[in-house]
Amino acid sequence: MNQPSPQSHNSELQLRMKVAACTAILVDEKIMNYSGHVSARLPGRDAFLIQTIDQPRNGLRPEHLLVCDYDGNILEGPAGEKAPAEVSLHGEILRSRKDVNSVAHFHHDQTNSFTLVEGVPLRVVKNHAVRWTSGLPVHADPAHVANADLGQAVVRTLGDHHALQIRAHGQVITAESVEAVLNDSIHFVENAMAMYNAAAIGKVAPLTDADMASFELYFKRGRHVNKLWRYYIEGAKTKGVVARDWDI
Ligand SMILES: [Zn+2]
Repeated sequence: MNQPSPQSHNSELQLRMKVAACTAILVDEKIMNYSGHVSARLPGRDAFLIQTIDQPRNGLRPEHLLVCDYDGNILEGPAGEKAPAEVSLHGEILRSRKDVNSVAHFHHDQTNSFTLVEGVPLRVVKNHAVRWTSGLPVHADPAHVANADLGQAVVRTLGDHHALQIRAHGQVITAESVEAVLNDSIHFVENAMAMYNAAAIGKVAPLTDADMASFELYFKRGRHVNKLWRYYIEGAKTKGVVARDWDI
């Protein structure tokens, strides 16, 4: 069965498969490339799964993942491997936001372009971007989030929101599960591409608060996340991007 279970019901192996699958799908969708990472909090522990610094994102497997604490120290993992340079980004968000169980960080150029031009901030222009009606903050410091201080600065910019852009750098998506972080990463880039295309034609008219409220009225997040997860997992298994026997 491909019905995703709530994060709290995942075995560690299932959670590892989900992180690996989510990463491979984001690469296949050209949202992530040779850099970027997906993390997942391990239920009941102050620790999370994340890939190593150099492992190809398109060949990620469950056994490649590290277990790190919120300070970015490796607790478990293949001998000799290093955590990603931006592990503090994940650790500090997971430490401070108990509603977040999974974080995705990637560097999508066209989405990023809204942080490079003056007077055209990224706005909500598609219905599934209702997730970000509270705001789409931009973190001003473009540096690699390479230590705890820089990670905590990102946490402050994120506030209670569910995503942010790091100026001239990339995107950070936060969600309650790996399934939801895949859903939100795809919708975040879809929304940015819709605005990017619209801006090429003329002045963009973002959705109004009333537009978003009317969409939200009938929107069931849990069901939508499950639907999208099953769609992308099935597609990825058919293409061989994700192993057919992964029970996720
Ligand atoms: Zn980065």
